[in-house]
Amino acid sequence: MSVSIGVLGLQGDVAENIVAARTALGTLGIKGTVKQVKTPDEISALDGLIIPGGESTMMGQMSLVNGALKVIKEKIQSGMPVFGICAGLILLSKNAKDRVVGKMDQPLLNLLDVRVERNSFGRQKDSFEAEISADSIGIPKTKGVFIRAPSIEDMGKDVQVVSKFNEKVVAVKQGNILAVSFHPELTHDVSMHKHFIGMIKPKK
Ligand code: GLN
Repeated sequence: MSVSIGVLGLQGDVAENIVAARTALGTLGIKGTVKQVKTPDEISALDGLIIPGGESTMMGQMSLVNGALKVIKEKIQSGMPVFGICAGLILLSKNAKDRVVGKMDQPLLNLLDVRVERNSFGRQKDSFEAEISADSIGIPKTKGVFIRAPSIEDMGKDVQVVSKFNEKVVAVKQGNILAVSFHPELTHDVSMHKHFIGMIKPKK
């Protein structure tokens, strides 16, 4: 098995996710490549995509303009696993509003059946690191870094809660979509990235 993983690299913490995904591939003993992707053509060739943290309004706008948003949506709808982190979770969602500013006109992929509250834990200066458990996907203990992190306020019946922090839902799974509101790539624990890679089916 060899897998081709892309990290959407229009904006956000791309390099950290490339390192985390490569480390995860190595520990799993799976052959594969991890690279930054920007264009529709690059995205079309992938087996799995990581949408990193950053700023969802900017990432959405840039991917709308260069045509990537449409291809990402089609690929996910046809089964490609995707791992959305923080801004990536927001971009995947059907509905998002900011805790302070409220609803904004931002492009969304409209795939993950959740309503997201952006900046749910406060602003940049309120960033923190916390212990997270995600037992339902075999991760009893990991760490997450919360930076202007969203939370999930409401979700459809096909969405599985993977993790909660302080009563707020901070990680979910829906079919081929894994989404977390914290940053696992800023810690040394690659278990979330390993779980995501496990969602990618071997090529026939
Ligand atoms: N608050 C940012 C947004 O709404 C996400 C922050 C992050 O990705 N660390 O896009």
